Amino acid sequence: MEAQHSARSSLSETKRKILVVEDEKDIRELVRYNLEAEGFAVVEASDGEIGLLLAARERPALIVLDLMLPGLSGLEVCRKLREREETLRLPVLILTARAAEVDKVLGLEMGADDYVTKPFSPRELVARVKAVLRRAYGVVLDKPHEVYEKGRLHIDFDTYDVVLDGQPLDLGLREFELLKFFLQYPHRVFSRGQILDLVWGQDVYVEPRTVDVHIRRLRQRLERDDANPTFILTVRGVGYKCDLDALEE
Ligand code: CA
Repeated sequence: MEAQHSARSSLSETKRKILVVEDEKDIRELVRYNLEAEGFAVVEASDGEIGLLLAARERPALIVLDLMLPGLSGLEVCRKLREREETLRLPVLILTARAAEVDKVLGLEMGADDYVTKPFSPRELVARVKAVLRRAYGVVLDKPHEVYEKGRLHIDFDTYDVVLDGQPLDLGLREFELLKFFLQYPHRVFSRGQILDLVWGQDVYVEPRTVDVHIRRLRQRLERDDANPTFILTVRGVGYKCDLDALEE
């Protein structure tokens, strides 16, 4: 059962990995950000040589390939991908500023699957990526649901549903983020200042005691007896930590 499960999850992970070959850092990051927001894993290459290397090594599901690259051009990268057995059928989505190149790229010679012309909208790019994946693999790749389950607690990070002892909890957004934060770093002690930086963000000015207010609200929802908390613990003179054992009781 275990082996079967891990084989299935690694297959879906491979199908969600995208290689982005683009020398312009800003565009690369824009593409990565938007693909990651849709649950894709992104591998980046800043030139064609690295792109070819990663295409063979990382086994991405698709390549987003810029045509204008230093050294090996996007056209050459595409041609080499098609020459090699292991990347022969790898879907390629071309990024190009030159509409004149498009026919050549999509033709039999290069065999790219689709293209997006620069400047492009991130939304359009993501839609094209999904369409090419669907054509290539015949599946719609939904973003995997992020769920946390431990003892009495069940959280769906996509829908913000929190269930404790089978009862839905109505948490404010800040309490939800605090809870998510504590669960990421169980048993670690954080000062109020650290919690502010990591949950509220460094550029937001809030009084450290704001943390106490939200901790109190979180405890009122989560603790069986919020006067004697067992889950979100106060560490005197330091700050707070969470104790996951409280979820098992
Ligand atoms: Ca470029």
